[in-house]
Amino acid sequence: MSGRIMAIAAHPGDGLFTMGATVARQIERGGAGTFLSLSVGEKGAPKNIPVRQYGEMQRAATEKSTRLLGAGSIILPYPDAEIPFNDESTMRVCDAIREFKPDVIVTHWNGSWHKDHQNCHLIVHDAIFYAGLDTLERKQPAYTVAKTYYAENWEDATNFQPDTYLNISPVFQKWMEACDFYPMWRGQTGFFRYNDYYSSLAVMRGCLSGFHHAVALMADAGQRTERLESL
Ligand SMILES: [Zn+2]
Repeated sequence: MSGRIMAIAAHPGDGLFTMGATVARQIERGGAGTFLSLSVGEKGAPKNIPVRQYGEMQRAATEKSTRLLGAGSIILPYPDAEIPFNDESTMRVCDAIREFKPDVIVTHWNGSWHKDHQNCHLIVHDAIFYAGLDTLERKQPAYTVAKTYYAENWEDATNFQPDTYLNISPVFQKWMEACDFYPMWRGQTGFFRYNDYYSSLAVMRGCLSGFHHAVALMADAGQRTERLESL
């Protein structure tokens, strides 16, 4: 696949760390990619940095990392930890989908402890439905997304069952550099070692799939059904 891909995440870190390599690979293969974050992730601020200032640091990191990958970036202004799942947020994401026209969407799996991640999953599910609904009039005409995948995320691990392995070897280093713009990547803002976890995960998924580095994705249930005349 080398078409258009849109990564939709609750927070910029989720977008870059769990979906970034997938987007980078698509772009490297001649496609186009964009990241949409529902919030700027400002409430992940460490104690010594005010929330507003941390939000600006997150925004700056997102600009640099998406530019490095040659991707677009949209950050919606919903408050971190309070991302609403309602018609307004769903329509906004629907409009972004109709605008960008992705062949593939990658987003959060719903087995998450984090309410923003759960809401993002629900918002994207309904936004894809609304985007493809001919009779729903918006600024842009209806658009049907061909495929949806869920990203592997340490916070969304409940019942995550990967079925799709993507070779990210050619973009691994670039993706690592893109992630490194975020202070949280190397654990400067909290306890979790994102860099060690996601770089090791890419090695582990690579071992299982026969690639040097890989990401594991979970296809939406609707596209796992095969319709055959015979086996
Ligand atoms: Zn998150």
